[in-house]
Amino acid sequence: MLDKRKFYINGQWVNPVKKNDFEVINPCNEDTCAIISLGSKEDTDNAVKAAKNAFESFKDTSKKERLDLLKKLLVIYKKRFIEMAKAISLEMGAPIDWATDVQTASGQAHLEDFIIRLKEFEFDEHFDKKSNNHIYYEPIGVCGLITPWNWPINQIALKVIPAFATGCTMILKPSEIAPLSGMLFAEMIDEVGFPKGVFNLVNGDGASVGTQISSHPDIDMVSFTGSTRAGRLISKNAAETIKRVCLELGGKGGNIVFADSYKNAVRDGIRNVMSNSGQSCDAPTRMLVEKSIYQRAVEEAVDEANKISVDQASKKGDHIGPVISKTQYDKIINLIESGISEGATLAAGGPELPHGLNKGYFIKPTIFTDVTNNMRIAKEEIFGPVLSIIPFETEDEAIKIVNDTYYGLGNYLQTEDKEKAHRVAKRLRSGCVYINGNTADAGTPFGGYRQSGNGREGGVWGLEEYLEVKTVTGWK
Ligand code: NAD
Repeated sequence: MLDKRKFYINGQWVNPVKKNDFEVINPCNEDTCAIISLGSKEDTDNAVKAAKNAFESFKDTSKKERLDLLKKLLVIYKKRFIEMAKAISLEMGAPIDWATDVQTASGQAHLEDFIIRLKEFEFDEHFDKKSNNHIYYEPIGVCGLITPWNWPINQIALKVIPAFATGCTMILKPSEIAPLSGMLFAEMIDEVGFPKGVFNLVNGDGASVGTQISSHPDIDMVSFTGSTRAGRLISKNAAETIKRVCLELGGKGGNIVFADSYKNAVRDGIRNVMSNSGQSCDAPTRMLVEKSIYQRAVEEAVDEANKISVDQASKKGDHIGPVISKTQYDKIINLIESGISEGATLAAGGPELPHGLNKGYFIKPTIFTDVTNNMRIAKEEIFGPVLSIIPFETEDEAIKIVNDTYYGLGNYLQTEDKEKAHRVAKRLRSGCVYINGNTADAGTPFGGYRQSGNGREGGVWGLEEYLEVKTVTGWK
């Protein structure tokens, strides 16, 4: 069992002020795989104090100094890549190939992209030729970064790197149920030798360290990724100190499969939902199928779901692993049962444990057909390997169903008709629309409409979140 009870504050690994052990559970076998500490107010205050002191000089570092440190971090990240993949696989039960090729790779991709964006970014510019005004972009200050467990290093990279790149200092609080990747990232930062106090890590839960961060008077900004429930609490808590709050929250993505879709559109949609055991905020969990191809689509969907195996994280291959925790497992099973009792047709999977897996939080890839958009399975974020198939007749009806949600993160559409694709993409109310299975490139903005959040991460938009903008008159 790993002993990870220390925090990283002011450039050192330190013991918590008060002992408060917390067990990190391996979701594949329900055993304790590590012990961490949950921080107290004193630990949070110490980290904030270190970050506040460090900001005084770090804000004035040059772009080149920061770029050199990020380039060093990239070298170390590549060197310890396999260690990172193993940490993610252990803490969240992600199959090792997925943890390596997708989860860990996402951290490297963000690092590489932010290095390019930072090189290109101008921190001051003249307003316009005729004007006597000048614009400065300045780091916002001390940032509190709160991240979830489902894409652990992806989310950490999307916050820590732009905060650092823009000259901010920070306190990271990774998810307490998957903290190992964040702690390894802190080790890498220590190995690079970031200036003391620029980056700090305090573990803790939402009620303690999370709340202390969102309400702290010396924290200038909170960047949060997680549930809409916690996002709401953080906004309320942060209101007193008027700090900037950037939220990346949940989703309930729609995937419109028109009759003229490419051959594998349905099968790809199934794979997309089930990957990461359904634990992705932009997963296309509502598949809307045009009535004329409904029967064929259902057959393909069921066939594809049944082909996806569920197995241990340590095994190589393209199977899916368990879901993260007992709490999530119970929530997902409860929603599957609600789908059955509300009258949807259970076409694949179901609430029973997958064959041969009697320990761990494993769930079969599950498909419901004949779903209506008012059922709980179509409305609530399930965050497990569960897909609802909903029939539609017209383009207008499909758009209406997709937009009939409080969320607005990622939506998907499949058609060979370019004009229709552009028309529909424009009308879908979400931060991303993915056409015909194409993924978003590194450096494009990621974020949500409505209750999916208010921020944009990645690329130049990701840098701007951490900046204040200043107008200076009388320049010439
Ligand atoms: P969660 O909201 O339970 O926890 C996320 C983080 O917030 C954890 O570090 C947790 O300790 C902390 N937290 C919880 N309550 C808090 C509070 N009151 N104050 C401050 N911090 C608090 O979410 P989760 O279960 O870890 O993650 C899954 C959720 O994250 C899903 O809803 C998913 O859609 C969302 N998510 C969104 C994105 C995105 O970019 N939009 C990306 C990944 C995950």
